[in-house]
Formats: sequence, C-alpha cells, structure tokens
Amino acid sequence: MSKTFSLYKQATNQWQKAADFFELDRDVRTILSEPKNEVSINFPVRMDNHELRLFRGHRIQHNNILGPFKGGIRFHPMVNHDEVKALAVWMTFKCALVGVPFGGAKGGVTVDPGELSAGELMRLTRRFTHALGGNIGPEYDIPAPDAGTNAKTMAIMMDTFMNAQSATNRNAQRHVVTGKTLTVGGSLGRDKATGQGVVYVLKAWAKEHNFDLKGAKFAVQGYGNVGFHAAHILEKEGAILVAVQDHTGSISNLKGIDAQALKTFNLSGNPITSFEKVEVISNQDFFKLPIDILIPAALEGQIHKDNAHDIQAKVIAEGANGPTTSEGEDILNQKGVVILPDLLANAGGVTVSYFEWAQNKTSSQWSLEAVDKRLLEMMNQAYAHTSEVAKDMKTDLRTASYIAALKRISYAYQERGIFP
Ligand code: NAD
Repeated sequence: MSKTFSLYKQATNQWQKAADFFELDRDVRTILSEPKNEVSINFPVRMDNHELRLFRGHRIQHNNILGPFKGGIRFHPMVNHDEVKALAVWMTFKCALVGVPFGGAKGGVTVDPGELSAGELMRLTRRFTHALGGNIGPEYDIPAPDAGTNAKTMAIMMDTFMNAQSATNRNAQRHVVTGKTLTVGGSLGRDKATGQGVVYVLKAWAKEHNFDLKGAKFAVQGYGNVGFHAAHILEKEGAILVAVQDHTGSISNLKGIDAQALKTFNLSGNPITSFEKVEVISNQDFFKLPIDILIPAALEGQIHKDNAHDIQAKVIAEGANGPTTSEGEDILNQKGVVILPDLLANAGGVTVSYFEWAQNKTSSQWSLEAVDKRLLEMMNQAYAHTSEVAKDMKTDLRTASYIAALKRISYAYQERGIFP
C-alpha cells in the first residue's frame, strides 16, 4: 500500500457508494461524514528498566444514534489515527446491520504488545484507560478486545475504570467493557463469538447456494482469536484446514491441519512454521493455493491488486476488518469470487458483546447454548437481509450490507429528528 493510502477514505468510499444507491438523506450523509469525537492521548508508562516511555493512543467515536458507542481496542505497532477512524466507521455500520443497540467507536495504542513484559502491559493498559477517563463509560462508550488485546486486557480496563469511581458505585460499572474474562463478568461464548459468527454466515451462504462445506478446503490468515476459532469451528462442519498464515510465516498441508493441535502448539511458544507435517511456504504462495474458502482474520489490506488474481477460493469470509482493498475487490468481483463482507461476517463478536452487556446490566448469566442460539438467529437474520438487499438492488453483498445499515440509521434520524 502506498504511503498516501487512507483506510478511512476506503471506509468512506464504501458507505458513500451504498448511499448513492438509494439517495441517502443529505443531512444524514453530512452527519456520518466525520466522527463525532476524536480523542488522541500521549501517555507515559514506567518500563521494567525504570525508564519512562511515552505511548500514543486514540479513541474515536463515529456515531451513536442507535445506542452507546461500541468498539474494540487494538494494541499494534501500526495503529494510527487514520486506521482507528476507519475501524470506528465500520463499527457504526456493523452494529446497525446486525441490529444491536450500539453506535460505532474504536480505540488503539501504537505498541507491539509482544515486546512488553506482563507488568509493562498491565501499566500501559491502566494508564491508557485512566487517560481515557470519562470518554468511556458503561452507558456511553464500551470498549472490547481487538487485535493484540484479549479478555485479560478487558478485565484490567474494567478494574481501572471501576477504581476511579466512588466505592458505592463500582459494581454497577462492569459493563464498561465487554469481552472480559468469565470470572469478572464476561459472557460464555464471547471468546469464540467472532469465529463462530464467521462460520454461521458461511453456513447461511452455503445453504443458499448449495455449496457443500463438507470436504471444502480452507485457508486462514491470522491465527489469533478470530482465525483460530473460525478454523476450529469450520473444521467441525467437515471442512479441511489446509493452510495458515500468521505474522511469522505461512504453512500448508493439503491433506489437512489439526486446528486445535496447531493452536496448542503455538500457545506453548512455538511458531506455526515449526508445526509437524506441514510445508513452510512463502506468504505469496499462501494466496495461490487450491482452496474453496479463504478466511482473512489478521489485519486490513491483506488482499490487494498484487495477490487477488492468484486467489482460487470461491468464497472469502472476512473475519478481519477491511482485509480487502478496493482494487483487490474489483479483481475478485470480476473473477466471480464471493465476498462475505466484514460488516456481516465478523459481526458475531459485537453481537455476543451486546449479550454480555445485557447480562451485566441484569446481573444474569446465560448458558452457552442460549448465547449460541441467539447468535445464530441474529447472524442468520443479518445474512438473509443482506442477501435480499443484494438481490433487490442488484449489487454485491458488501454494498448491500451498507445499504441495510444506512437505512436503519437513516430511519432513526428521521424518527428522532436532528437536534435542535
Ligand atoms: P489477534 O491479535 O488475536 O490475532 C491476530 C493474528 O493476526 C495473529 O495470529 C497474528 O500473528 C496475525 N497477524 C498479524 N499481522 C499479520 C500479518 N502481517 N500477516 C499475517 N498474519 C498476521 O487479533 P483478533 O482479535 O483475532 O483480530 C483479527 C482481526 O479480526 C482484526 O482485523 C480485528 O479487527 C478483527 N475482529 C476481531 C474481533 C474480536 O472479537 N477479536 C471482532 C471483529 C473483528
């Protein structure tokens, strides 16, 4: 990607293309054209060697017409203001599409969490949360995990936020973040929710198109929360995991790779490239493999004009946010490759985050079966609606997902009116 590339511009172009399809109200278009609030913070963290290091973080709140701002917190060396802005925009439309009562936000810190000790990471998380202060809150803006953060990060964020509240009010604040560990108020099924949602959407698409998942070969890029769970669950549907790529390299075995065994091996500190019975391949060759399904579940911009021609998959399920560039997408559309877009395919995470938020507010705990059942219903509804809009408007699923989301947002503005 060129230095002048803007992910925010890509996100804006995507929703504006959809807005043109049905002549979205001008006022709503104006409001959505920039985020409501953009907070950037430089904050100091004491490192283990006693040096004080300055880190930069952001929280960007795009829109909250449908409910409190909602969106993940990313810890990654490439985090920057433009990226967080794009991710916040996508959250607005994702929540609207799937029908959870939230708006869109995103946050991030420019840091490589792998380079920090557990103590440094704890201090960074606490200091960032404290610096965010009243910019987050259980009824105002609710963070969740994203790349480089996890349930433990959310438990620390919650604890930090609570400690800044008056003692009598603390336990009413647990829903300030979602995706927490179970012990501190997390939901059953949240850990696997995004990957589970990817598979539910794939199944809905496969059913509609008589595509047999049994025996289908698939590859996953990114083997973290989303990539692993998607692979593990899809494997249970009878599909065969044949290749994995992460930040350390790419591996393949066309006869199949055991998803859980690879994860256990990786979690023990081994790179995926040392796993048994796999061939280490180049990152370019990963995209050329004879597969049926590709699941990008790493970062944005991974499928682009230089590798889209090589992709042999019939369907791409976007576990990651923004994994396909516009040029890459044009090539895939010409080739007839179906893209199950990020707004839809990875919405399982925010959906179960909503369930967690609702459980915290009512001091209840749903069973895993109840979580999975409601998630399935909501993902099926979102898929059916998107597919219907795509057929009605004669467009692709991505544009259809934006049209569906924009209409919901637009109705809310029409009904509420625009203040004052
Ligand atoms: P994670 O940190 O758990 O895992 C990220 C994975 O991507 C790791 O395996 C890492 O090695 C790999 N990776 C990083 N850079 C790479 C590169 N250049 N090439 C190949 N692989 C690379 O993150 P996650 O939570 O699984 O999130 C992954 C994606 O899914 C992100 O785009 C995120 O925004 C999106 N997403 C996450 C959730 C969630 O609930 N965690 C929800 C919706 C969308």
